[in-house]
Amino acid sequence: MQIKIFRANQDNYLYLIHDEITGSTALIDASDENAVLKALDESGWTLSDIFITHHHLDHTDALLALKKRFNVKVSGPLLESTKISGLDRLVKGGDSIQLGSLEFDILDLGGHTNGHIGYFETKGKHLFSGDALFSLGCGRMFEGTPEQMWAGLERIKQLPNETKIYCGHEYSAANAAFALSIDANNEMLKARKTEIEQQLASGEPTIPVTLKQEKATNPFLRADDREFTKVLNMQDKQPSEIFAFIRKAKDVF
Ligand code: ZN
Ligand code: FE
Repeated sequence: MQIKIFRANQDNYLYLIHDEITGSTALIDASDENAVLKALDESGWTLSDIFITHHHLDHTDALLALKKRFNVKVSGPLLESTKISGLDRLVKGGDSIQLGSLEFDILDLGGHTNGHIGYFETKGKHLFSGDALFSLGCGRMFEGTPEQMWAGLERIKQLPNETKIYCGHEYSAANAAFALSIDANNEMLKARKTEIEQQLASGEPTIPVTLKQEKATNPFLRADDREFTKVLNMQDKQPSEIFAFIRKAKDVF
């Protein structure tokens, strides 16, 4: 399996996933048609599938144009099927789909939008998390509840530690600044901030990042971590309440 990471719009990340055994190639989210065409051209791969994480326009607005150009099968969230035109296969948490010889488990990651899903490639352990989880952050809670969004993050936390996370935006530097504002003595977080600065300075993406790394540094994944909730002085609260508190603090940071 090969993955091509490329930027779209201002700060979106799109991904091409290529199965070398069958030649199948999926695009994760569909925005910025020119960026997609350029990435396909550079890779030499032929697009066969598009996997959509959620209905926001910066993840879907090139979908119909790409469908017109290529013979592709588009998979996307069942719960957002009325908000996205061009879906061929509707999927939900608990489903599994194939891309050639590769298998993807669908994760319910509702909260940023109600029907948001993630795609977890099971053999190589790659998670395409859309706007549900960023490095050191998570998406704004536009549609869902803290309980729902925390439940999605818990599903991610149950994946293997070596899982590599590929998210929908390059927000790592701003996320690091917020994370340090509430977790100033976290040595791994400080080291990650330095790494992010170096990566961005040399024009490299700050992702993928491992789940293990994120579990130690991303405040939104640590709402049930005793050590961290003590730092917040919230050790007597439920994880979903702590998650809601962190989300609110980030919204106004
Ligand atoms: Zn979004
Ligand atoms: Fe987005």
